[in-house]
Amino acid sequence: VPLAFGIDIGGTKVAIGLVDDSGQVRCHLRVATTGPEDTVREIVSACRDIAGPVFGEVSAVGVGASGPLDLVAGSFAITDNLPGWAGTPIVAVLQKALGLPVALENDADAALVGELFHGAGRANRGDVVAMLTFGTGVGGAIWTGSGLFRGAYGEHPEIGHMPVLSDGPACYCGARGCLEAEASGTALTAAFGDPRRLFEAETEDEKSAGILRRMDRALKAAVINLAHTFRPALIVFGGGVMEAHYGRFAQRLEMAATSSTQLLQPMQVAKAELGNQAGMIGAAAIALRREKGT
Ligand SMILES: [Zn+2]
Repeated sequence: VPLAFGIDIGGTKVAIGLVDDSGQVRCHLRVATTGPEDTVREIVSACRDIAGPVFGEVSAVGVGASGPLDLVAGSFAITDNLPGWAGTPIVAVLQKALGLPVALENDADAALVGELFHGAGRANRGDVVAMLTFGTGVGGAIWTGSGLFRGAYGEHPEIGHMPVLSDGPACYCGARGCLEAEASGTALTAAFGDPRRLFEAETEDEKSAGILRRMDRALKAAVINLAHTFRPALIVFGGGVMEAHYGRFAQRLEMAATSSTQLLQPMQVAKAELGNQAGMIGAAAIALRREKGT
């Protein structure tokens, strides 16, 4: 059975898994994200630990990472969510340390591929599918029906930075009222403190209720913008915030998905099925597909 390492480098932690080509995670580990040298050392040692005696059977490494990435150079380009990582040539470093081919992809793209091949998007692989991931930041990805949508120069469209609320705060990207500035774990923590408490307190606390009402508005605008720009058959919602709280948003997202008069057929919304393993499983799937030449 073809095996790959799937590595998901996020703002606070890195998930490392040994994944087979049916999307089964054989073994996995998490390490904290720190500076690039220490983190890479931990990733390499985690790969050796989780593969153990089958290390020689692993054929490739897939890395999903917060960006923007320079996919041509195989390195981190701009790293607002990974301070100190800019310029790290992650592909070359891992290739050398593990002796395996390394595929690098934006983390939201990796999560979407994971969901399409092994999760909530299984039935829609031939359709246009969008994904939004709500973690430290907000990521987004578009599947065209046959592959990942790429922008000019191979760059990844930063869907998390679509402005959704005109009265929103200035965002570090230069725009105002971005989805990321309203609905990322970082934004929710800045507005309230512990995001878990934010959701628990909604019924008795006006402040948390207000923050979540803003998030509802932001998500509705995001769903409608995606519908009108890409007309996906399905939008998948993933990342830690949605894994824990999708139920809080499900009905509102369904209403948002049917609120436009401009769609002739329904548009679906769904919770990511692979949870916080989507990026790891997807990164492995990308690496295995590249090795097969598909
Ligand atoms: Zn922004």
